Amino acid sequence: MSDRSFLSWPFFEERHRKLAAELDAWADSNLGAVDHHDVDAACRALVARLGRDGWLAHTAPDADGAHGALDVRTLALIRETLARRSGLADFAFAMQGLGAGPISLFGTPAQRAAWLPKTRDGQAIAAFALSEPASGSDVANLATTARRDGDSYRLDGEKTWISNGGIADLYVVFARTGEAPGARGLSAFIVRGDNPGLKIAERIEVIASHPLARLTFENCRVEADALIGKAGDGFKIAMATLDVFRTTVGAAALGFARRALDETVRRASNRELFGAPLAELQMVQGHIADMALEIDAAALLVYRAAWTKDSGAARVTREAAMAKLYATEAAQRVIDAAVQIHGGDGVRSGHPVETLYREIRALRIYEGASDVQKVVIARTVLAAGGG
Ligand SMILES: Cc1cc2nc3c(=O)[nH]c(=O)nc-3n(C[C@H](O)[C@H](O)[C@H](O)COP(=O)(O)OP(=O)(O)OC[C@H]3O[C@@H](n4cnc5c(N)ncnc54)[C@H](O)[C@@H]3O)c2cc1C
Repeated sequence: MSDRSFLSWPFFEERHRKLAAELDAWADSNLGAVDHHDVDAACRALVARLGRDGWLAHTAPDADGAHGALDVRTLALIRETLARRSGLADFAFAMQGLGAGPISLFGTPAQRAAWLPKTRDGQAIAAFALSEPASGSDVANLATTARRDGDSYRLDGEKTWISNGGIADLYVVFARTGEAPGARGLSAFIVRGDNPGLKIAERIEVIASHPLARLTFENCRVEADALIGKAGDGFKIAMATLDVFRTTVGAAALGFARRALDETVRRASNRELFGAPLAELQMVQGHIADMALEIDAAALLVYRAAWTKDSGAARVTREAAMAKLYATEAAQRVIDAAVQIHGGDGVRSGHPVETLYREIRALRIYEGASDVQKVVIARTVLAAGGG
């Protein structure tokens, strides 16, 4: 069992501690070993189960607060707890939030009513389609177009690396409407998964398998009321959504790191070497100390960012960038140490630390690569004139 003492930090309220305990109990009886062989089926089943039992309700509150406000500490705690058990369960949860995020944050009452009950219940799977082959980090350069044509828009172009691509019922697609050059000429649209102009051009396999695809849009028509917010607001919508969810990527990394430390402590305590448990070797203790230290530092940054947002800050760009950057990089180091301490078993296919080693890698790339987070942090520091 991971150290849960962090739940008594002042960032949390009683409702967070209660939720963490309930989710732990739920995960014990509902997650078991997730079968990664058919990720589409596994993902659909996870979304359905998370929806059925109310966990997805936290991903997409209504504007009127009927389902509570979007509480970043809750999202982060859920992601951390799920990631400790299963990368795919965390993915299934997170994508419902990221995919529905632009609608819950900026959608009209009609858009919210049409989609959020379904994403919350797990009846509709959501995707967030921003990246393109020539514009991953360089979002403002995206080339997919949306041209107004009477009462509809016509989308043409290509998106890639789209999580849930191939199984999503709902894609929030960012496209160029051209109100101004660059970032100020983008808009966000709701595109149904069964729109005939949307094709799954390629399924993409990555080191930790989950549903992922390249999509093409050819004469893909959506009604004008599929526009989220105002035309030209797309970049703002994407960044505000990422501002909320970026911190939770750090939380997922934290969950992976805590699991790696748990596995390491168990291994080091049970494995005998040179006539004594591995844990008695001081070099191993040094690794364990570093792992615990990095985990606590990551947790402080993640929950600082989440608390700041929940306390009413309009934007948490700097805090979220620091949380994501540090927690994902630290988790990579923690997991690497876990693999090392496990010896050969650490690289055995299917061993928990081998799985973590694959799971963590993409988190340092998506939702803004680590280098991009450094640029973001440096800009805020420079703008503020110092630390
Ligand atoms: C598993 C996975 C899931 C994903 N899911 C989604 C999704 O659901 N929706 C979606 O829209 N996208 C998704 N993405 C895309 C992801 O956001 C992009 O891969 C990411 O933004 C990087 O873009 P890129 O791959 O084009 O790399 P590039 O933009 O080519 O960047 C490559 C590298 O260049 C460096 N770099 C880039 N910019 C800078 C800079 N300013 N300063 C210094 N160095 C820099 C970084 O090291 C970066 O990793 C996903 C990606 C992966 C791997």
